[in-house]
Amino acid sequence: MPDILIRNADVVVTMDARRSELRGADVLIRGGIIAGVGPGLSDEGVEVIEARGCVVTPGLVNTHHHLYQTLTRAVPGGQDALLFGWLKTLYPIWARFGPEEMFVSAQVGLAELALSGCTLTSDHLYLFPNGARLDDTIAAAGEVGLRFHPTRGAMSIGESAGGLPPDSLVETETAILEDMIRVVDRFHDPLPGAMVRVGLAPCSPFSVSRELMRDSALLARDKRVMLHAHLAENDEDIAYSLERFGCRPGQYAEDLGWTGADVWHAHCVKLDGSEIELFNQSRTGISHCPCSNCRLGSGIAPIRAMRDAGCLVGLGVDGSASNDAGNLVAEARMAMLLQRVALGADAMGAREALEIATLGGAQVLGRDDLGSVEPGKRADLAIWDLRGVEAAGAWDPVAALILCGPGRVRDLIVEGRQIVRDGQLVRLDLSRLLEQQRRLAVRLAG
Ligand SMILES: [Zn+2]
Repeated sequence: MPDILIRNADVVVTMDARRSELRGADVLIRGGIIAGVGPGLSDEGVEVIEARGCVVTPGLVNTHHHLYQTLTRAVPGGQDALLFGWLKTLYPIWARFGPEEMFVSAQVGLAELALSGCTLTSDHLYLFPNGARLDDTIAAAGEVGLRFHPTRGAMSIGESAGGLPPDSLVETETAILEDMIRVVDRFHDPLPGAMVRVGLAPCSPFSVSRELMRDSALLARDKRVMLHAHLAENDEDIAYSLERFGCRPGQYAEDLGWTGADVWHAHCVKLDGSEIELFNQSRTGISHCPCSNCRLGSGIAPIRAMRDAGCLVGLGVDGSASNDAGNLVAEARMAMLLQRVALGADAMGAREALEIATLGGAQVLGRDDLGSVEPGKRADLAIWDLRGVEAAGAWDPVAALILCGPGRVRDLIVEGRQIVRDGQLVRLDLSRLLEQQRRLAVRLAG
C-alpha cells in the first residue's frame, strides 16, 4: 500500500474537538493512518492526489442497513404500506434468497454506499434462507473494500407462535446462539483499525423471544462485541410493546441488558423524554434513518432533543427495500431537513448533519480510531469535487455538501487504500456486478 498525500484541498473538514476547517490544506497518510494535516506537507516518496477544488471530510459512517434488501427495491406491493404490512409483502420474496442473492445484493448496496462517501457500514442480516450465511456479506465487503460491521441478526417467533414472519424464515434459538458464537469467533477483530467487527442483533422485540434478547446480551458481553436491534420505530411498535410486554420499549431494552455503550438501536422515532435520558445516561447509541422513516410514514425522530440531551446519534440508510436509496450524504440532508420540518429552519445546520454522518456514526459504532481527520486516526476519507454543476454557485463549500451537492464522491480512501478513484470503484467491475444483479432479478420475479 503506497503512502498518500492529498494535496491542496480547498477545505479539510477535520471534525476534531474544535471542529476545525482548514483551508488550502494537505492530508498525509502513512501505513493506513493519518500522519499529518495542514498546509505544505512534504510529498517525498508518496503518491499524490490533487484536491484543488475539493472538500475533504472524514468518511461517512452508516450505522443501519439491510444490504440483502438491495435486490428488492420498489416492490409494487410494498411501496405504500406501513411497516408491518410492508414486511408481510416482502417476506415471501426474501424466503427465495440464497447465498448468491446475499452476496450480490450486498455488493450492489456497498458499491452504492461507497460512491456516496461511506467508508464504514454496519449491516443487519436477520434471515438466512436456503443456506445463506453472514459469511456471504463479509466476503462481499472484502471485495468492495469498505470497513464492515456486520451483525448476526435473528428471528425466532414465526406466524404460528403469534409473530410476524412466516415460519419458514425463523430459526430455533439454539441454532441462532450457536451461529452467533461461530461468526464472532471466526470474523470479529477487536483491534484498532479493524476492517471487520461482528455484532449480535436479534431483529426486533416483535420477532424474537424475551429469552433470546437476554441471552444474546449475555453472549455479547462475554465476547465483548456490540448489540443492535430495531426499537421504537413507529406507533404500532409502541402499542405492541405496551400490549405484549406491559412496558415501553426503553424499559424493555433496559430490563434485558439492551442499554449501554456497547448497544445501538435503529430508528428510536418514538422514544419519549425519559427514554432519551436513559439512552444518554447509559451511552446507548441511536441510528437515525430519516428517509426510511419518511418512506414508511413512521414519523420524525426527536433528534434535536436527543442531541441536546447529549445522546450519541449516527445515521442509517436502512434497508434498500424501505428507502429505497443507499446514499448516505442524501440521508444527512434528509436528517437536517426533517428537524426543520418539525422545529423550524434553525433546528439543524448543514455542519451538524455532516457531523452526525461522520463522527457521530463512528461514536455510535464504538470506533474511537475513526471519524475525524487527525494525526493517529485511521485514514478513512472522502474527497468531494465541488467544481461540478451541483455545487456551482455555492458560497460555502462545506455547507454545500449537504445543502446542494455533489451527491457522489470523487475519491474514497479506506484504511489508506483508495477504493473510489475519479468517481469509479477501483476494485469492483460495476457493470459486471449489475449484470449479475439483473440475472438474479429475473430468477426472483419468476
Ligand atoms: Zn432496519
